[in-house]
Amino acid sequence: MPESISLQVAVDAPAHTSLRAPLTYLGESPLPPGTLVRVPFGTREVTGVVWAGEASTGEPVVDPAVSLRPLRHALTSLPPLSAAWCRLVDFTAAYYQRGIGEVALSVLPPELRKLDDTQVRQRIARLQKALTVRPPGTGVAVIPPGLDAAQTRVLAELRLAQGSAAAPTALLHGVTGSGKTEIYLRAAAEALSQGRQAMVLVPEINLTPQLEARFAERFAGRHIVAMHSGLTPAQRLRSWLAAHLGLADLVLGTRLAVFASMPRLGLIVVDEEHDPSYKQQEGARYSARDLAIYRGRLEGATVLLGSATPSLESWQRADEGRYLRLSMPARIGGGVLPVVRLVDMNAQPKVKGGAALSPPLVAALQQCIARGEQGLVFLNRRGYAPVLHCGDCGWKSGCPNCSAWRVFHKLDRTLRCHHCGFTERVPRACPDCGNLDISPIGRGTERLEEQLAELLTHPDGRPARIARIDADSTRGKGALEAQLGAVHAGEVDVLVGTQMITKGHDFRRITLVAAVNPDTSLFSSDFRAPERLFALLMQAAGRAGRDAAQAAASEMWVQTWHPHHALYAALRRHDFHAFAESQLAERRMAGLPPHSHLALLRAEARTADAARGFLQAASEAAEVTAEAADVTLYPPVPTPIARVANVERMQMLIESPSRQSLQRFLANWLPALHEMRRERVADQRILRWAIDVDPLAI
Ligand SMILES: [Zn+2]
Ligand SMILES: [Zn+2]
Repeated sequence: MPESISLQVAVDAPAHTSLRAPLTYLGESPLPPGTLVRVPFGTREVTGVVWAGEASTGEPVVDPAVSLRPLRHALTSLPPLSAAWCRLVDFTAAYYQRGIGEVALSVLPPELRKLDDTQVRQRIARLQKALTVRPPGTGVAVIPPGLDAAQTRVLAELRLAQGSAAAPTALLHGVTGSGKTEIYLRAAAEALSQGRQAMVLVPEINLTPQLEARFAERFAGRHIVAMHSGLTPAQRLRSWLAAHLGLADLVLGTRLAVFASMPRLGLIVVDEEHDPSYKQQEGARYSARDLAIYRGRLEGATVLLGSATPSLESWQRADEGRYLRLSMPARIGGGVLPVVRLVDMNAQPKVKGGAALSPPLVAALQQCIARGEQGLVFLNRRGYAPVLHCGDCGWKSGCPNCSAWRVFHKLDRTLRCHHCGFTERVPRACPDCGNLDISPIGRGTERLEEQLAELLTHPDGRPARIARIDADSTRGKGALEAQLGAVHAGEVDVLVGTQMITKGHDFRRITLVAAVNPDTSLFSSDFRAPERLFALLMQAAGRAGRDAAQAAASEMWVQTWHPHHALYAALRRHDFHAFAESQLAERRMAGLPPHSHLALLRAEARTADAARGFLQAASEAAEVTAEAADVTLYPPVPTPIARVANVERMQMLIESPSRQSLQRFLANWLPALHEMRRERVADQRILRWAIDVDPLAI
């Protein structure tokens, strides 16, 4: 019998979500773990990865219906994925309660599933030929800028830690403009000089080009590849292969890049480590930041987490001495941070419908324009007004499919639901009573733009040039780049937008940044809202006065109804330490992360009762597990927006003081959930459910 060797293969089996462990297949000869293979699965042929002995999600499955069949094809031209890579996937699957094959296949380039061994061999040969040619710029040594005292100290501390520990995890806390990128560049240069590869993660795709340019300039003659969802499938395969074959020295990318296969990984940088974008929001809901730390330990790679406002989890770990804390408290070249001015909205003249812009802020913007400088005004709400309203009968522009208002967009006269996309022309009259006078309530970026255009002028009477950047204005390809270009070229006096404009962009001429209505986050039901608001405001403040010459005059304005709130007091002093300490104390009192560990079970159904019923049944099933005593299950509650596109969404919080207990509990609870789901999906009572471990929003 030629087909006599049994092989464990991790396959993505969406229809068999309970098949989380690898399946057993038959092969003609042994294949090393990490080899890509094509195997029969039901009536289809799917791609899988040969898996080593014991997987942490359970015993390999031997199910005659799906396995113990001969595998069809092995991609032997592709060097096998490393044992470390397989362990990373294994850990991800176990920790986030997903299937090994599901995780493995979702993080490999999709193109790999389409190619046979011959095609893979051709791709590799082509790539090797192309990459033996050194990129242009070879021989032109770029002289790196000199380091200031803080940078020199930080690099020395990092080197010392690297000398004493196999692979330190360091938290680089540096205010905006303190030169964190230069630290990343130097750390990467060191890793490369030791013959190792470096990975640099950023939260958003649109931040990759400028970073890529900086790395390309510094590392002329080295191969740098990008990895993010904006690449074509062919580009993604090329980048992935270059990293996997060890041809690329540097990988720059978004959260997905944390799974890049890199045989000589020596450094992982996670820039803006606090950013929620590092958390995947579907499938395996992993945190790329947390996996980067795990991977660093696994592969002996230094991990450098950078932020001006670190996550409280990371801050706490640095407090405990588990991470090396590196601080750069000042801006480069002695540039000072902007002065923070709080406008007490209680003391401002009352205007019907509420004034979006207080007189002192308008005056300050006016002066900013008169000086030939730029202002940035942000508001976390796009559209013209969050809701249309009839004063006679009380009608509001609700969405028929969601428990949310439809937003009034004046530009195209539509009412749009930002949750399900349902869009209609604005009615001429109130649909309920026929009143012709229906009016907008509240303010979005469109309306703010309109108001600023009415209010602001140049000293010579010319109207001020206002530009808006949000998800609506940047829909077209290249639109964002064009708008940013206009700001940089000085063709814009005041830039209006959502938090999109507060991230990363290096606006040299902006000297005034204003937050119009940030208060809503102060009293949110989500315990992380203050942390996010503080990070957002600090980041926004960091946009002002990037030019040392203008820094002294730069200002951050915050309009608030709660000017004495502790968060704003800390913001005024740019005091992250004080903010973090007070928040951590509150979290300790309330038993919230990082002092406890959370998971959310979410359910979606046609009716709220069905969703609640599933969660309640799940809760009852939990009581009989051995670990029930180690966790607390809270009653099911609707999600913040309970109904989206006619689907009701409920969630249940699971909390434990111990991460291990929570993990053990979830692993033993899951089979019961799969069983319940099978029963309930059949009769459509439940549509979807998911577990989110370490959820970022609750
Ligand atoms: Zn009406
Ligand atoms: Zn809707």
